[in-house]
Amino acid sequence: MPEMRRDPITKNWVIIATERAKRPEKPTYKVDMQENEVPYEKNCFFCSENEYMTPPEVLAYRNYNSKPDSSGWTLRAVPNKFAALNLNQEFHIKQENSLQISSYATGTSEVIIESPHHSKCLSQLDLDQVADVLRAYRDRYIAISQENAVKYILLFRNHGAQAGTSITHPHSQIIATPVIPPKIAEEFTGANDYFESTGRCVYCDMIKMELKERSRIIYENDHFISFAPYASKTPFETWIMPKFHSAKYQDLNEEQILYLSEVWKTTLFKIYKGLENPPYNYFIHTSPTQKNTDRYYHWHVELIPKLTIAAGFELGTGMYINIAIPEDCAEYLREIAVK
Ligand SMILES: [Zn+2]
Ligand SMILES: [Zn+2]
Ligand SMILES: [Zn+2]
Repeated sequence: MPEMRRDPITKNWVIIATERAKRPEKPTYKVDMQENEVPYEKNCFFCSENEYMTPPEVLAYRNYNSKPDSSGWTLRAVPNKFAALNLNQEFHIKQENSLQISSYATGTSEVIIESPHHSKCLSQLDLDQVADVLRAYRDRYIAISQENAVKYILLFRNHGAQAGTSITHPHSQIIATPVIPPKIAEEFTGANDYFESTGRCVYCDMIKMELKERSRIIYENDHFISFAPYASKTPFETWIMPKFHSAKYQDLNEEQILYLSEVWKTTLFKIYKGLENPPYNYFIHTSPTQKNTDRYYHWHVELIPKLTIAAGFELGTGMYINIAIPEDCAEYLREIAVK
C-alpha cells in the first residue's frame, strides 16, 4: 500500500511508493574506484608534496618538525581557490527597487583535505584519521564563527562525480554564508514550534522513538546513533545524531569525538560495502554560534546516497517520492558486516 509520511520537523510530506519499492540491488551509480590504490597523483592539488598548489593552509595536523605548507601532514585545511564568497567586503543590502535587492557575496569557503593519500576514501581511513576529520570540522567551525559577517557555516562532503565533485582526492568542504539558509531556517522553525507545544526537543523524541522501535537503526554506540529517518526522502537516506541533547556540533569534546568517529566510520563503511561505493552527499546541520537555539535544536548529519535523481515532481513541488521503504534500507545496512 503506498503511504505518505510527514517529516516531524519540517512537516513536509514524503510519498513512500511501496508498489515500486525495492532494494536497489544494482545501484544506479557507482564511484569508480581505481583497481589499485594510488597514493600520489602528480597533478593533484591535494596530494602531499603538492602543497604549493593550494593557498596557504589555515589548519594542519602535522609532524612537529615539519613546516607549514610542506609535506609531513595527516590533514590540512586550505581556503578554496575558487570560492564564490569572500570576506573582502561587508554584506550590505542594496535595494534598487522592490524587485532588485542585492549585496556583495560576503562569506568564506574552505577545503579540508582528509588525508595525504590520493585515493583512500573516508570510509577506508583508520579510526584515528576519521576522528581527525571530525576534529578539523569542529576546529574550523569555531575559527570561522569568529567572523562577524558569518551567519551560518555548512560543513559538507560530496563523494563521487554524480554527487558534485570532480576532485578524486578525499576532501570535505566548508561554506560560510552571511544569511541563514532556507533549509536551516525551516528546521529551526519546525523544532521551535514542536518545543513550544510540547516542551521537548523533537530530535530527542525521534531518538527515543528509534531506540524503542529499533527497525530503522543502522548502527549505535553509547552516545551516537545512525538510522534511516521515518520520513526518508530518498532510498538509504541516513542520519547520524548524538543520543544526548546538544544544539551545536562545535561543542563536541574529545571523548565524544572518539565515540562519534566510530559511528561515522562504521556507517560510511556499511554504505560503501552494501551499496558498492555509491556517490553521496552529507552535511552537518548545527546551530549557528550567533543564534541561541540550545533548548529546541539538536545537531545532526544527513547523508543522501545518490541512487536516484530528483526530477520534475521533486523540483516542482519540493515533495519527494521515495521508492524504498526506510525500514528495509535500515535492515539491509544493519546486517552488513563491518569486518
Ligand atoms: Zn591527490
Ligand atoms: Zn535534543
Ligand atoms: Zn537537518
